[in-house]
Amino acid sequence: MTATDDDFRRKMLATAFRMPSFQTMVTRKSSITNAFVNSVIPVIPPTLDEIEEALSILGMDPSNVRCAYCGDKKSEWDHLRPLVLKHRPTGFISEIANLVPSCGKCNQSKGNKPWRTWMQSSKGLSPSARGIADVATRITRLDNYEKWRSPTIIDFEDVLGRDAWEQYWLLWKNVNDELRNCQEVADSIRDKIIEALRSK
Ligand SMILES: [Zn+2]
Repeated sequence: MTATDDDFRRKMLATAFRMPSFQTMVTRKSSITNAFVNSVIPVIPPTLDEIEEALSILGMDPSNVRCAYCGDKKSEWDHLRPLVLKHRPTGFISEIANLVPSCGKCNQSKGNKPWRTWMQSSKGLSPSARGIADVATRITRLDNYEKWRSPTIIDFEDVLGRDAWEQYWLLWKNVNDELRNCQEVADSIRDKIIEALRSK
């Protein structure tokens, strides 16, 4: 085997394997925030007429609903304007005026980023980065979709009073603090396990 062959083999093997992403209790922070936000915002189911109108604005037939961002097969309806920013709710809710059909790839890649900037960005799995040909047309349709209705925006402090709202986020802080404590215990357990494996 020549040196180049060996280099090639090493590179191939290194890219052939991928360790599953390492989850700790602390990396759960966004899931916890999402749960705290999703648990208090209203979910308003659309009427059939509203579904029909929404699809027509997006230029889609009900028998063939595709991802509004890239045109792939849709797997879910994604919040056009994010529900969470910087670990706090934005005030937007789950209602059809704030939801568009999406594929899993786009939903994951978009995250909480503003949809237009994300669609035009050349990073990650955004539609532009993936070379989707009709991104401009899709942006125009989504523009029209945004203009269709003004979205509901909740001012939580205004509705509940400042104290009650802060109390809720104190619960969120307590859960995260407790998880950090749990992670410290978990870390020391894992260290002991690794040590035990080494001394075998
Ligand atoms: Zn997509």
